[in-house]
Amino acid sequence: MTLPLVHHPAYCAELPANHRFPMDKFKAVADLIRSEDLMDGSAFFRPRAAPFEWVALAHDPAYVDQVFSAEVPHKIAREIGFPMREDIALRARCATGGTVLTGYLALEHGLACNTAGGSHHARRAHGAGFCVFNDVAVALRVMQADGAIGKALVIDLDVHQGDGTADIFQGDPDIFTFSMHSQKNYPVRKIPSHLDIALADDTGDAAYLQELKRILPELLALKDWDIVFYNAGVDPYEHDRLGRLSLSRAGLHLRDLHVIGAVREAGIPLAGVLGGGYSTDIDELADRHLSLHRSARTVFGMDRTAARPLPVLESQRVDCLSPTLPPEDDPSSDEVTEIEPVSDQYV
Ligand SMILES: [Zn+2]
Repeated sequence: MTLPLVHHPAYCAELPANHRFPMDKFKAVADLIRSEDLMDGSAFFRPRAAPFEWVALAHDPAYVDQVFSAEVPHKIAREIGFPMREDIALRARCATGGTVLTGYLALEHGLACNTAGGSHHARRAHGAGFCVFNDVAVALRVMQADGAIGKALVIDLDVHQGDGTADIFQGDPDIFTFSMHSQKNYPVRKIPSHLDIALADDTGDAAYLQELKRILPELLALKDWDIVFYNAGVDPYEHDRLGRLSLSRAGLHLRDLHVIGAVREAGIPLAGVLGGGYSTDIDELADRHLSLHRSARTVFGMDRTAARPLPVLESQRVDCLSPTLPPEDDPSSDEVTEIEPVSDQYV
């Protein structure tokens, strides 16, 4: 069986030269996955762009409308840090659709990863910090609304605190948000997750992994989770432009292997998203991000836990995933969504 990985060419939108966000990394990640043959000759699963109805489950519909129509107020656009054009909106919708698809693939196969996602600073009211839509929050809300999941755990190990995810799931008894991050890093005003572990500068591999191994078994045993969404941000790396925790490349890889292995050992489906990582060296950055996919493939190859049957009827699932598609446009309606090999063309 092949590890299901999700990608869309529109993940990579154009930004002004010298923009601080390394947009080209999404294409580089996909290229590296292909060149390492992590899918054993198979193609990427391609998501649909998330429709308004999905995104509005997690965000203020007025803000979603502003993004879709490329009319985001200047103040909010500044807080996001992107020129809020139509192609940037399409990119956010595709990345969000990708994480929704990754969630469903994880339920079906036990493990799946996106090649984007982890936009955890986007709050209910609007985006922030290079995050337009909170893809993990949208995926959880879609899957909740669909009846596909009940209780879910978010493990967010990006170096920045997951304030947007915390905001959206405040007071939700079924979604537990956990963020382990750098105390002194963005965002300045952190919105409390259900559990936050704030680490000091230069924590390093040993103390970081020790803390993770201490808390993970407790979290996994806390409730009967239907799925874990894992934000595998690689900005805790010692040479990351925005990180402060001084993890080595080996430390990041051990972290990913440990999280994915522990979650699968507990019999819980895991959906992995890329998260943050910042460098002007795109090849180095893509290679760093691939720790998630390489670790997932390693665990997937050893995984003996059978995928759980979906708790919803196939027809319900397809309804939810394709609410705007007329039947004639969806001849393969027994598939998870419009799964096709990724072409080099935008759609
Ligand atoms: Zn980050």
